[in-house]
Amino acid sequence: MMPASHSATGFVPLEPEHIAVSKSKGIKIDWKDSHRSEYSLRYLRDHCPCATCSGAHGTEPVKPEYATPFQMYKPTLKMLGVEPVGNYAIRIQWNDGHDTGIFSWEYLRRICDCPECTGEVR
Ligand SMILES: [Zn+2]
Ligand SMILES: [Zn+2]
Repeated sequence: MMPASHSATGFVPLEPEHIAVSKSKGIKIDWKDSHRSEYSLRYLRDHCPCATCSGAHGTEPVKPEYATPFQMYKPTLKMLGVEPVGNYAIRIQWNDGHDTGIFSWEYLRRICDCPECTGEVR
């Protein structure tokens, strides 16, 4: 668990102010602390937090697109739908049949790929 180190004053809950979903491009989130995150489809799919994709059962995460000679038959990655889970997460349904990945706000913020979050601020 994270230590509760935030101060009582000025604390902004880690929640999206606005979410923009493009099923063929990705997701953009404006956070309540005025941070902005952008996630491409491929980035989200590669960071699917479910047990199957993260290899939680002790198996290596499967990346079939690098192993199969049939990748030309692989359809372009798309989201079929995004549905809210409670008020803390979203569940993404992919066109490859996968729909068990639940992306919590906390997780999405953690995988934010912007220069500020990845430590590449100049
Ligand atoms: Zn998954
Ligand atoms: Zn960020």
